[in-house]
Amino acid sequence: MAKSKMVYFFGERKSEGDGSMKELLGGKGAGLAEMTKIGLPVPAGFTITTEVCDLYYRNSKRYPEGLKEEVAQHLARLEKVTGKKLGDPNDPLLVSVRSGSPVSMPGMMETILNLGLTDASVEGLARKTGNRRFALDAYRRFIMMYGSTAMGIDREKFDRAFQRIKETSTAKRLGVPYGKKIADTDVNEAELAALLAEFKALYKNEIGSSFPQDPQVQLWGAIGAVFGSWMADKAVTYRRVENLVGIKGTAVSVVQMVFGNKGDTSGTGVCFTRDPNSGEDVFYGDYLVNAQGEDVVAGIRTPIKLSEFASKDPKAYRQLCAVRTTLERHYKDMQDLEFTVEEEKLYMLQCRTGKRSPSAAFKIAVDLVKEKLITKEQAISRIKTSDIEGIFYPAIDKSQTKDLDESFIVQGIDAVPGAACGKVYFSAEKAEECAKNGDKVILVRKETSPEDVGGMHAAQGILTATGGKTSHAAVVARGWGKCCIVGCEKLEIDYDKKSFSANGYTIKEGEYVTLDGCNGNVYKGALKLVAPKLPDSYETLMKWVDETRTLKVRTNADTPYDAEHGRKLGAEGIGLCRTEHMFFDSEERILAIRQMIIAETVEARKKALAKLLPFQTRDFEGIFAAMDGLGVTIRLIDPPLHEFVPHDAAGQKALAKAAGVSFDFVKQRVEKLHEANPMLGHRGCRLTITYPEILEMQVTAIMTAACNMARRGIKVFPEIMIPLVIDAKEFAINERLTRKTADAILAREGMKVSYSVGTMIETPRAALLADEIAQTAEFFSFGTNDLTQMTLGMSRDDAGKFLPDYVDENKAAVFKADPFQSLDQAGVGLLITSGIAKGRASRAKLKVGICGEHGGDSASVKFCHRAGMDYVSASPFRVPVARLAAAQAALEAKAQKNAPAIKTVTPKAPIKKAKPSTPAKSAKLEKLSRPSSKATTSAKKAPAKKVASKTAVKKNTPKKTVAKKPAVKRAVTKTRATPQGKKPIAKAKR
Ligand code: PEP
Ligand code: MG
Repeated sequence: MAKSKMVYFFGERKSEGDGSMKELLGGKGAGLAEMTKIGLPVPAGFTITTEVCDLYYRNSKRYPEGLKEEVAQHLARLEKVTGKKLGDPNDPLLVSVRSGSPVSMPGMMETILNLGLTDASVEGLARKTGNRRFALDAYRRFIMMYGSTAMGIDREKFDRAFQRIKETSTAKRLGVPYGKKIADTDVNEAELAALLAEFKALYKNEIGSSFPQDPQVQLWGAIGAVFGSWMADKAVTYRRVENLVGIKGTAVSVVQMVFGNKGDTSGTGVCFTRDPNSGEDVFYGDYLVNAQGEDVVAGIRTPIKLSEFASKDPKAYRQLCAVRTTLERHYKDMQDLEFTVEEEKLYMLQCRTGKRSPSAAFKIAVDLVKEKLITKEQAISRIKTSDIEGIFYPAIDKSQTKDLDESFIVQGIDAVPGAACGKVYFSAEKAEECAKNGDKVILVRKETSPEDVGGMHAAQGILTATGGKTSHAAVVARGWGKCCIVGCEKLEIDYDKKSFSANGYTIKEGEYVTLDGCNGNVYKGALKLVAPKLPDSYETLMKWVDETRTLKVRTNADTPYDAEHGRKLGAEGIGLCRTEHMFFDSEERILAIRQMIIAETVEARKKALAKLLPFQTRDFEGIFAAMDGLGVTIRLIDPPLHEFVPHDAAGQKALAKAAGVSFDFVKQRVEKLHEANPMLGHRGCRLTITYPEILEMQVTAIMTAACNMARRGIKVFPEIMIPLVIDAKEFAINERLTRKTADAILAREGMKVSYSVGTMIETPRAALLADEIAQTAEFFSFGTNDLTQMTLGMSRDDAGKFLPDYVDENKAAVFKADPFQSLDQAGVGLLITSGIAKGRASRAKLKVGICGEHGGDSASVKFCHRAGMDYVSASPFRVPVARLAAAQAALEAKAQKNAPAIKTVTPKAPIKKAKPSTPAKSAKLEKLSRPSSKATTSAKKAPAKKVASKTAVKKNTPKKTVAKKPAVKRAVTKTRATPQGKKPIAKAKR
């Protein structure tokens, strides 16, 4: 078999790769290749592929055979193109060695600049450029980067040596008072020469040998360092928090150096072709005069804005503007660019799709459609779940004018919009630890580094003393849509004392601050946050979404408020109303339900139920009114009764008193209700089999409310749903009583209201016997919380303790995502697809939906579309996410319509791979779980479609399972869904 190519060249307007080869060449390599191809000024170089990185790790960190030769050939070609030789003592070729993963991981991996400098070649460079200071500065950067990155010397040691020279020699020469900041650029040639001697001594002391003077040794040391950085803690953490799985590794690009540190007509910058925060079509970025690339990203000096750059160096700025237009038109998207100006000449060093704030994502997508650069479909496909989540992030409630004035501390640079409030912590570890304990956290750092990524992710917001809008903190936070303020230069952070001061205020660790990422203001204390105003582009894009999707989206709502809210967010009906939640809205209701539960006779039970009837009726009326004209699925009582009763003596005494019975009686009744496995116990329709009077009361409330509302002209479509069914007969018993009760109410009221009776499919047996159940059931709603629990045999209450190991790609990696959050398509999905096929074989027009948490998860919603469901139902805040996913699913299906027969999509091998299932087994599973496109056809006849989800690149805060809390607790802690102060679109827990 022919050996695959390991190195790709680019230079002189030609490249062996191109922009589509991100997987192989990494984002940077692909961007450089493409920019070269389209004639932009890119220094020449070559890229070692990500496959080499993969092989390197698979082969115990040994390079694949033939790599050295291939690199040598490409280096020779680079030397030919540039007319310079690596290590030449007179006119050396210098290169940068850059990392580049297929998915952007800002700042997580290493780059080494100025490689090829030695004691001899540095003098050649000095002579050739006539600028010895520049040459020495480049050499000190190289030793520092190589020493720390390739050889593992603590970078602090180099920093301290540099600082010493600045504080002694430079400060003295310039007469700078003690303690005042000295810029790197103030250090002169002689001081740099002295510093180099110190650096080399430091290197020798740490490593035991002199700094390598052979450029080949340097080159391979740097390549090894870049590959090594792929598995560095910070990179692994970043991939974990971003849930990036299945990536082969990093590519390595070796690129001819161009120099931004050649004086005032040189510099380096990072920019976005549009504003990444607002999405406005304005050029946006930072530029640092007389600097090299790492200075901007590391936030070491605060850079100037592009407008200032335009007036400082109009010639270079004009070149950059031309590149901006070319690249936006070429890629048809906003780009994130890195460039260097060497003596007024522009060089492009990177180009990739720019990370943007959630609202910018909507604005840019809609604007690009208006500019006719992309289609509406492309715009829809570009919006991510996280964009929708982010657009609902809170802002500071500006009505608290007095508080705002009084608590203002300081202003920094508004890097990422949104607002955040939390307790201040000064280290990433502490921030992560406190966030794990449930605290809302603000991470405050002088500057962030990639090591901080875990703490940054855990924090509500990030505040740094240095850096610009493209600093590490800003870029990373923006990707997450997380409020971030940078360059807050007045901030004096004391890591030892764990406090910061600014403008006379001192804030200690653990104290609250509030950040306003829209204007960079930092406030003392916890200010009130409110839901933001949605931009016009959101409404425009969501209109396109609704025109595109075929899958309906309903909401899970138990109160009129939630129903209204869900409808405002686009819900087309209620997919699940959990009626038991209504029992806990007031003391009166709690008491009545408890009396019902402890009742020993049917009469006593009926008496208690009669007290609940008016409450339930009123709630249903409100829900029907909110959903005028839309279907409302109401589920009858589900949880085990013991969840409703007090388990503490005080509560039991209170109940005894209110019910007029003895404390012992209550205690005994509660003990009797105890179950070892309540989730598998007396719950769901098993309760109404035992106590049919509960069903009678609930159906009476539903139908009375429906009649009352219908009389007022509201269009009501009640759908009564029986939970936890396992058998057709069991369903039929409940269905008969439901109809008998409902029809009696209609007769009593003299009304004609059409209603339907259906079931949840949430036990594996129900899915397996779906054809029998569908003989009577008019609709199915897949309750995938319980279906997952019972299919996997994992308690939804307890699996959170060990499930993370099942998802962790460095541990078991059995699942790509928590199956209680994102549907287990291979397993549970199989029950769903076969359940639908069987159900529709009995009842062709069977309406099918899903109402487990998965109804608000993008990948699961796409599965539901492919499985031929009619609707998904999600908690109100997830409704927009579900709408978007439904539209994207329709577009994906359209794109696949003429695609060739299904191939098993095996997940891309993670570096540490879990043992895959055998091909035969996966193929079989694939075939079985292949959904029918036409709901009425059987699985066998289904057209070929991809079912196994592709890499589910999802935001992953370590996911919690959908815990089924005891009902009492649930009801008491249940937040009334107010938009204020509550992180919206948070995945609803039951
Ligand atoms: C389910 O099991 O998926 C469901 C929606 O019901 P609950 O979460 O109330 O058990
Ligand atoms: Mg359930």
